[in-house]
Amino acid sequence: MALEKPPHTRKQKIASLADQCVQCGLCLPTCPTYGLDGNEAESPRGRIAIAAALARGDAEPTEALRIHLDHCLGCLNCQRVCPANVKYDELLVETRALIGPSPRRPKQLLAMLKQPSLLRLAARVGGSTGLAHWKQRLADRLPATSAWRSALETWSEPAHVAAPPVPKNQHADQPAVALFPGCVASVEDEAAERAAITLLQAAGYRVERLPAFCCGAMDLHGGDMDTADRLAERVRDSWQRSGATQLISVTPGCLGTLRRALPDVTVSDPVTLLAERRDRLVFRPLERRVAVHLPCTQLNVARSESALQDLLRQVPSLDLAMLPRPPHCCGAAGSHMLEFPERAARLREGVLGQIARLAPQQLLSSNIGCRLHLAAGMDKQGEQWPTMHPLTLLAQQLEISP
Ligand code: SF4
Ligand code: SF4
Repeated sequence: MALEKPPHTRKQKIASLADQCVQCGLCLPTCPTYGLDGNEAESPRGRIAIAAALARGDAEPTEALRIHLDHCLGCLNCQRVCPANVKYDELLVETRALIGPSPRRPKQLLAMLKQPSLLRLAARVGGSTGLAHWKQRLADRLPATSAWRSALETWSEPAHVAAPPVPKNQHADQPAVALFPGCVASVEDEAAERAAITLLQAAGYRVERLPAFCCGAMDLHGGDMDTADRLAERVRDSWQRSGATQLISVTPGCLGTLRRALPDVTVSDPVTLLAERRDRLVFRPLERRVAVHLPCTQLNVARSESALQDLLRQVPSLDLAMLPRPPHCCGAAGSHMLEFPERAARLREGVLGQIARLAPQQLLSSNIGCRLHLAAGMDKQGEQWPTMHPLTLLAQQLEISP
């Protein structure tokens, strides 16, 4: 029997991936953009058909056609429920690479967001000029569709959270974990990074922090494969110097890209490692009702939702209120909230409504992009739920023996 040849070109690969779809439609009810528009072209099945037509030369990548691919949030709810195991993530990345970056992409803004040193400088300038108090007046001068307007509205001063104490059980023979700080998260979510280090050390891991730079997720998902490949090479180089046995990222949004760069390495959410050793962690009680938002990448890439709940339940008196599962997506989705602010705001409204019904005192979410986007929506609606990474809360409650 003749063996089927693997596809050689990008177009063949896309066509072959699209052929796996049996068009059953089971993914449609889980797709947030299908829920928003009720339009087949805004569904996973519709996007797969568009990708196949582009790859086979049956259609041209006109603006009218590519907009449906650009609207995709990459949430992967569809992939999770697909009975035919269609690799939608791969299909989307390859198709966006085939048609190239969207002319709508805010290149300068994204280039700035990818540089931690520039972000730190912007945070310092924003903090010293009280930007939080006048950013909306400045934003209102920009067009509603402007990516810069959306970025301004989302801007927030990085939270100053006291550094948790360092556990005293560090030994050279403990398993070594490398922490990938990322770009935006390394500045805006430094507290979560420090929390992860403290918790992992308390659980008996040695942690090595890698240099902070972008993993390439926004380029990979934006069709700029050359830049994504260069950043993947930097990830590999940085990993090889670490001497660690596994890699973690406190932001689940980076995990898929890191796994692509390092297919033979275990790349996980620190929550998974911590849950495995939760018998080593003791937490002080906290009487607080917290709403837990699970970012799409935590559900569909990290798959760490149960581990997160197991860990949070270790905190005595903490009242957990979980947000409903997909098809809900807050609309942040990497650069989606910058490129399509109006759609992102509509998606966010649904999630803010769910949070309001849970009547929490605080909101937890592992993804800094989701937290900033949700917080910007709260500002507009006058809501006051302080937001935090779940690891930051866990580290604050950690009991460390003297
Ligand atoms: S569930 Fe899978 S096979 Fe069915 S339409 Fe969606 S992508 Fe295609
Ligand atoms: S990744 Fe999300 S938004 Fe995109 S088609 Fe799948 S379910 Fe819809």
